[in-house]
Amino acid sequence: MVHTRFAPSPTGFVHIGSIYSVLLDFAVARKNHGKFTIRIEDTDRNRYVADAEAKLYEAIDWFGLQEDESSRKGGKFAPYHQSERLAVYQEYVQKLITSGNAYYCFCTTERLDQMRKDQQKSGKPPMYDKHCRNLSAEEVKANLDKKIPYVIRLKVPENIDIEVNDLIRGKIFFPSKDVDDQVLLKSDGFPTYHLAAIVDDHLMEITHIIRGEEWLPSSPKHVLLYQMFGWQMPVLFHTPTLRNPDKTKLSKRKGHTNVGWYQDQGFLPEAILNFIGQLGWTHPEGKEIFSLEEFVQLFKLEDVSPAGPVFDETKLRWMNGKYIREILSEDELFERIKKYLTLAISDQQLKKVIPLIKERLEVLSQVNDLLQFLLPEQQIDVELVKKQSKKTEEEIKKLLIDLQEALQTDEEWTVQSIELDIRNLKASYPDWGGRNYFMTIRVVTTAFPVTPPLFESIEVLGKELVLKRVESVINKL
Ligand code: GLU
Repeated sequence: MVHTRFAPSPTGFVHIGSIYSVLLDFAVARKNHGKFTIRIEDTDRNRYVADAEAKLYEAIDWFGLQEDESSRKGGKFAPYHQSERLAVYQEYVQKLITSGNAYYCFCTTERLDQMRKDQQKSGKPPMYDKHCRNLSAEEVKANLDKKIPYVIRLKVPENIDIEVNDLIRGKIFFPSKDVDDQVLLKSDGFPTYHLAAIVDDHLMEITHIIRGEEWLPSSPKHVLLYQMFGWQMPVLFHTPTLRNPDKTKLSKRKGHTNVGWYQDQGFLPEAILNFIGQLGWTHPEGKEIFSLEEFVQLFKLEDVSPAGPVFDETKLRWMNGKYIREILSEDELFERIKKYLTLAISDQQLKKVIPLIKERLEVLSQVNDLLQFLLPEQQIDVELVKKQSKKTEEEIKKLLIDLQEALQTDEEWTVQSIELDIRNLKASYPDWGGRNYFMTIRVVTTAFPVTPPLFESIEVLGKELVLKRVESVINKL
């Protein structure tokens, strides 16, 4: 059975690149009627962040990429917190000691620091110098008896090429002289990522390891561990690193990496998934917009291009707007917008105004700017009216008094009747340019030079408020 896993370290916010991996984990598991597991790799206690796990699950739920087994759901291979599995790793690291594939290292921090400094000075890569690799059994025993603190290191075989087979990159060979004798078990008895992940991937019967490209350089160590344990290597797939349009790595400094930011802005989870789904993969019919179900049906890991896909936020915004305009139903859009609305606007008014603003909405949080004009307390800036009209105060006043009368006597108050009122009135003002005429009325009634379509906006605002605004400007002139 196909079994994928997402194995985050709870060290902070949820990175958008992680969601890329999760999407692939989810799709591969679902497509093959397999299982998708979330395992929490919390063995690095220094980097542990208490609410990171809760945030992760919140993001998983928001995207609708629910797992089958995890630290919150339990499952066949529980526990799913690595910190609760320490005895397992100790057992397996002992097996490596016994088989001669790992060794005790008693080097002090001072010695290791000095070694690193020397390596830096002479321009050598930072690697353990194998000082403890050949200690005799007696020396090791004596040190252990004396309770000298130790770590356990991987004994990387000398002079071989380690073959890593990445599903989309093919075979990559790593000369073992460049692979560090990695610490597997730390002096506090906690495993490092390398040991814990491999042991768990095996024990949890993971068939596809899908993880960020940044782990590719570590993969020779993992291949060695699989060989040393005599286990079958799962499929290895490194998710291409997301890039900015200038091809640099997507980072906090240049782009937005925190899923929370996308949520706050009002991106739709469906649109984000669609967007990242087509980053390194092309729909067989070249479709740009597709649902998660469709992606699950059609996606194949082998079809992903390993070249770093560009995460173009402008395109994501466009796609998000498309979901808002064309894919969400009116009711769905209403419910979603409500969650972002901070203005005091009634449900009834909101429902009326959504069709007017949805053309202009790229992200849901924009609703608060776009609907400012509905707030009854909105003041009209006379200077802005003058600027837009390009007429004298007297001329503006004359127009507004006529407008007031035309609207006052409008008993119907429909978009059509309002349009008729305003267009008929224009006939009496032939010396006003069309743009200046309509702009003046727009600013006087809505307070803003940019709003949804004019007659519709006036209708939604309601007769009373519109007349109050016109009156307030007349009084200021
Ligand atoms: N715990 C690792 C991380 O935080 C997981 C890498 C993997 O998926 O193997 O990225």
